Amino acid sequence: MSAFDGLVRGVMPLIPKRVMWTVARRYVAGAELSDALARVTALRAEGFGAILDVLGEGVSSEDGARAAADEYKRALAGLGDADRDTPISVKPTHLGLLLDPALCEALLDELCAAAGAGGRRVRFEMEDAPTVSATLEVFERVAARHGNLGCVLQSRLFRTADDVERLIGSTPDLNVRMVKGIYLEPPEIAWTDAEEIRTNFIARVASLLDAGAFVALATHDDEVAERGLELLTERGLGPDSGRYEFQCLMGVRRAFAARLRDAGHPVRVYVPYGRDWHAYSMRRLAKNPEIARHVMRALFRGGDR
Ligand SMILES: Cc1cc2nc3c(=O)[nH]c(=O)nc-3n(C[C@H](O)[C@H](O)[C@H](O)COP(=O)(O)OP(=O)(O)OC[C@H]3O[C@@H](n4cnc5c(N)ncnc54)[C@H](O)[C@@H]3O)c2cc1C
Repeated sequence: MSAFDGLVRGVMPLIPKRVMWTVARRYVAGAELSDALARVTALRAEGFGAILDVLGEGVSSEDGARAAADEYKRALAGLGDADRDTPISVKPTHLGLLLDPALCEALLDELCAAAGAGGRRVRFEMEDAPTVSATLEVFERVAARHGNLGCVLQSRLFRTADDVERLIGSTPDLNVRMVKGIYLEPPEIAWTDAEEIRTNFIARVASLLDAGAFVALATHDDEVAERGLELLTERGLGPDSGRYEFQCLMGVRRAFAARLRDAGHPVRVYVPYGRDWHAYSMRRLAKNPEIARHVMRALFRGGDR
C-alpha cells in the first residue's frame, strides 16, 4: 500500500455522510427503489440498457437474506411489464451464501422464477476469492433449472481459465459477465500485473465466444474494450448478433460508455440503490484503495473522460 493509499484510507471514515453522498450519488441511484427506477428510465431514454442492483452483502442472519430477496422481488414488480429488458444483479453473500449455501440457493431459485415470469434475467455476481467455489456450485445448480441465470468471472484469478472450461461443459446457454475483479487478491492465486489481468480477460472472452456463450464485457478500460471489439469482429459478431454487450458502472467514464453506444454496441449501465449505500461504499473503499482514489479525485476535481 502506497503512502497515498494509506492517507486515503485514513481520511475516508472522517468524511461526513452528507459529504460522502455528494460523491456517492454519482455512483449510486439513491436509497429508495423509486430512485433506481427513475435512473433506469432515464438511461433507457438515452439508449442504454440498465442493470438493477440492491446494495448489500455479507448478511449475518437468515432474516437479512430473506429481506434482500424480498427487496429484489419488489424491484422486479417495480420494473413491471413495461420493462422486460432490465436484469437484476445479486451478490451471493447478500442472499446468505456465507450462512447457508442451501438458503442462498433457494432464494436464488425464487428470484430466477420471479424474474423469468416477467421475461427477465438474473446475474449472480462474484465476490472475493474464498466465496468463488461455493458461488459457482450454487450457480451451476440453479442455472440447470433456470435458463435466465448468468454468472460473473474475474480475469484477475488464476482459476478462471479452468472455471470457464468447466462451465462451458456444464451449463447450456452459458451467459457470463467478464470482469477484472474488484477484490484485491494475494499473488498466490491472482495476477497483480495490470497487463496480465487484461490478457487473461481477453483470452477468457475468446474461449467463451468460441464456445457459443453470451459474453458481457464489463469494463471501462479502453484497451480491453478495443481488444474485445477485435475479437468480436474476427468472429463476425456484430451488434445484432445477440451474443455480447458491454457493461459499465453508473457514473464511471460516461463518455466511454456513450462512445460504445454511439458506435451501435449494446451497453448496459449498472444501477445500484439501497439504504445500505454508505456502509457499502465504505466497505468497498476499505477493500480497494484504487476506488478510494477515484472517489477522492471526484471529491476534489470532478470531471469525466
Ligand atoms: C457492470 C459491472 C459489474 C461488475 N460486477 C462485478 C462483480 O460481480 N464482481 C467483481 O469482482 N467485480 C465486478 N465489477 C468490477 C470490475 O471487476 C472492476 O473492478 C471494474 O470494472 C474496474 O475495472 P476496469 O476493467 O474498468 O478497469 P480499470 O483499469 O480498473 O479502470 C479503467 C478506467 O476506468 C475508470 N474507473 C474504473 N473504475 C472506476 C470507479 N469505480 N470510479 C471511477 N472511475 C473508475 C478509471 O478511469 C480507470 O482508469 C463490475 C464492473 C462492472 C462495470
